[in-house]
Amino acid sequence: MIKFLDLQKINLLHQQAIENKLLDVFRSGWYLLGSEVKSFEENLAQYIGTNYAIGVANGLDALRLIYRAYIELGIMQIGDEVIVPANTYIASILALSDNGLIPVLVEPNDDNFNIDISKIEEAITPRTKSILIVHLQGRVVFNNELKNIAEKYNLKIVEDNAQAIGASWNNIKTGNLGDAAGFSFYPGKNLGALGDGGAVTTNDEKLALAIRAIANYGSNQKYINIYKGLNSRLDEIQAAVLDVKLPFIDDENEKRRQIANRYNNEINNPKIKLPEIPTDSNEHVWHVYVIRIEDRDDLQNYLTENNIQTIIHYPIPPHQQEAYQELNNLSFPITEKMHKEVLSIPISPVMTAEEVNTIIDVINKF
Ligand SMILES: *Cc1c(COP(=O)(O)O)cnc(C)c1O
Repeated sequence: MIKFLDLQKINLLHQQAIENKLLDVFRSGWYLLGSEVKSFEENLAQYIGTNYAIGVANGLDALRLIYRAYIELGIMQIGDEVIVPANTYIASILALSDNGLIPVLVEPNDDNFNIDISKIEEAITPRTKSILIVHLQGRVVFNNELKNIAEKYNLKIVEDNAQAIGASWNNIKTGNLGDAAGFSFYPGKNLGALGDGGAVTTNDEKLALAIRAIANYGSNQKYINIYKGLNSRLDEIQAAVLDVKLPFIDDENEKRRQIANRYNNEINNPKIKLPEIPTDSNEHVWHVYVIRIEDRDDLQNYLTENNIQTIIHYPIPPHQQEAYQELNNLSFPITEKMHKEVLSIPISPVMTAEEVNTIIDVINKF
C-alpha cells in the first residue's frame, strides 16, 4: 500500500541524530525552558529572517497567542473583526473566536485555493483590525496589493504558516511577510515534531515579549504575573528533534516540488483538474498536493481499491460546522464547491519514483 504520508520513514531519515538528542535531553534532567528550545528558537528565527521566534505548544496556540497579545497590548479589542479565508483549516478560525474576535470569511481564488486578495477590501469595516492570511497547501499568498490594503486600513497581517515553512515570496520567507506568524510542528507538517509543537515569528519586540509572557502563565519573571496567561510551551524534547530536522527542510521541500512537477506533467486524465504551479517555484512547498474532480468520492474509492491512500482537505468548510452556528446561514459557493471536489494524493520527501509512477498510472486509468 502507498501511504498518504509515511511518518516513520520521514523521521528515520534522521534516526541517529534524533536518538542521540533524545538521549541527551533525557539524561540532562532539564525538560522545559532550556537550552534546546533556546537553540531551536535562534535557528528558526535565523532561517525565517525574523528578529524573534518563540516556541509554543502547537500551531493553534501560536495563532491564539498572537491575537491574545494584540488584545493585551491594546492594539485589538474583543469584538474586532479579522478577515480570514473561508476555506481554511478550522484552527485559523478557532484562534480568532477563542479571543472574542469576529472571523469575517472571504472566498478563495478558485485556481490556487488561497484567499482572493481582490475580495478583501469589500469585506473591510471600521471594526476590521487584521487579515489572517493562510498559505494553504504550502502555497504563498502575498502581493503588493495585499500590503497596500493593510497599510491603507492600518491592519495587522498575521500569517498562518502551519503549512508553508520554507516557502518564500521575492526571497522573503513566509513567516516574515506580515506582522507576526504562527507555525505548527504537528508530526504531519513539512517540519514535524514527535508530538505537538508550534512557534511564533515576528520582528515586533513588544509583541514577542508579550507572547513569551502569556505563554508562560503571563510571566516573564518567575512568580511575577503581568498577564492572565496560559501554559503553552514547546518542550525540550520536541525542540531538540526540530533542531535536528530544520537544516534539511529546504532539501525535503525540494523533493516535494519534484513530485508535484511530475504529477503536473504526467497526470493527464481529462476529468481531473491539477493544482496550479506558481511561476516562482519557491512560492510553493507542497504540504499537500490537491487535485479536483466532480466525482471525488468515486476516485477516492478507486484509489483505495488500488492501495493508494488519500485524504480530503477538508470535507466540511468552517461556516458549515456545528461549532459555528452563527456562520451557518452564510453562503460561499466557491468554498463549498471546492470542499466537494478536492482530494489530496500522496506527496512527501520519502516517496520513491516507483510509487509516484504507480500513482500517475492508476489515476490516468480512472
Ligand atoms: C495544522 C494547522 C494548524 C494548527 O496546528 P496544530 O499544531 O495542529 O495546532 C493551523 N492552521 C493550519 C492551516 C494548519 O494546517
